[in-house]
Amino acid sequence: MFKVNSYIGGRALPPSDGRYNDKLDPRTGEKMAEVANSPAADVALAIEDADRAQAAWRNLRPSERGRILLELARIIRRSEDRLGALESADTGKPGVEMAGLMDLTAQYFEYYAGLVNAMDGEVINQGPDYHIYTRRDPFGVIGAILPWNAPLHQAVRAIAPALATGNSVVAKPSEHTSASLVELARIAVEEAGLPPGVFNVVVGKGSVIGPVMARHPAMRKISFTGGLTAGQELGKIAAERILPLTLELGGKSANIVFDDADLDAAAKGATRAFTWNSGQWCAAGTRLLVQENIHDRFVEKLIAEVAALDIGPHFNATSGPITTQAQFEKIQSYFGVAERDGLTPAIGGKVASGAALGSGWYIEPTVYTGVRNDMTLAKEEVFGPIVCVIPFKDEADALHIANDSEFGLGAGIWSRDIGRVHRMAAGLEAGRIVVNEYSGGFVQTPCGGFKQSGYGREQGLDALSHYTQLKSIIIRL
Ligand code: NAD
Repeated sequence: MFKVNSYIGGRALPPSDGRYNDKLDPRTGEKMAEVANSPAADVALAIEDADRAQAAWRNLRPSERGRILLELARIIRRSEDRLGALESADTGKPGVEMAGLMDLTAQYFEYYAGLVNAMDGEVINQGPDYHIYTRRDPFGVIGAILPWNAPLHQAVRAIAPALATGNSVVAKPSEHTSASLVELARIAVEEAGLPPGVFNVVVGKGSVIGPVMARHPAMRKISFTGGLTAGQELGKIAAERILPLTLELGGKSANIVFDDADLDAAAKGATRAFTWNSGQWCAAGTRLLVQENIHDRFVEKLIAEVAALDIGPHFNATSGPITTQAQFEKIQSYFGVAERDGLTPAIGGKVASGAALGSGWYIEPTVYTGVRNDMTLAKEEVFGPIVCVIPFKDEADALHIANDSEFGLGAGIWSRDIGRVHRMAAGLEAGRIVVNEYSGGFVQTPCGGFKQSGYGREQGLDALSHYTQLKSIIIRL
């Protein structure tokens, strides 16, 4: 049994009121750790430390900040087994996936450590009487509020560009998966040489910490990744003080299979699209739109792929358990929702059980066919391994169904017709469109949503502008 504490001002800090919450193991349902339930005073302390540390950090040359972040990337690579084990234990993710996720974690620091050296302003010509230029300034203290589905990856895609551009950071991981981010902050300061106070992690409940972060006068911007409800609550507070936000919210992404696609590849890709990470993936392809004339043939292939999945606690499993008990229960409630809409599962539809699964929080990957886009199951984000198969006639019909959603995070297109691919990509209301595979993209590709999936972008070159403010300097000569 271990305790997870906040990391503030370059040291581990137990909660000032001594309160902890139990953390349960998704693979067994049993208690595995105690996690700090930090009170408001600890959050304020972290923000004030970050504020003090920021002035010296922003005044370093970008290349000097970059060198420290590159050192951090090197240590992440060296420590990938330890960091990966912490995260796998917290989330229940299969061990086999951790090396890839830790590689991605290091890549964010490598990318932004180099990129920040190329971040320049411009000179604007207004004739010989003026010298006008622009520069990009950091905000000051940046807050990062984070979900539990890919803890380090979600954290560093905000933290790496924020630090590289000269901000200091107060990060708040999910109370369910805090251990790996606390360890990252520790190695950043104690091994990579990041000045204490520049990168802090506050552990505890979002309903307590989030509002304190948003209301603190030294907090200058928040990047929030999580669900719609918490995002809306944060947005209301932010509106009061004109606090800039990046909101990375949920999705109900359409994955569209045309009759000219490689159907075997599409069936494999569509399976991974809704079962990767047991469906706990914001951009999961959970509305599977299949052209009418290939529907039955395709569904047969899909079911064969789903039946071959290997669920369990073992290292090489294709899917692990659901990370939190509340989410495990929420997913099960959608089986009732589907039944009330007259749907029966073509495969799955219940809790996965078996000797190897014990009392862990496992759900059978589930396919519902004959779903209409106006049914609750097709409208709400489940955040679990459930896919709705929805038939369509032609391109126009596919586009209409795909865009008929409050969300607009991701989309997939499976087709060999390049004209069709571009027409669809232009028409889809989604922040990221993947063609002939269904992946999470790259560190270099911007990520973010249309409509209720949020605003602002993480990842890619564009993130540098989201963590800096543009200033114009107009000099009359
Ligand atoms: P969540 O909204 O419950 O929690 C996210 C974070 O917000 C946690 O750290 C939580 O403690 C905190 N929080 C809770 N209430 C808060 C409040 N009132 N104010 C401020 N912070 C608060 O989400 P989750 O269950 O951890 O994650 C799942 C959700 O995240 C899904 O909707 C998923 O689609 C979304 N997500 C989006 C992306 C993306 O890039 N768009 C990536 C991953 C997850």
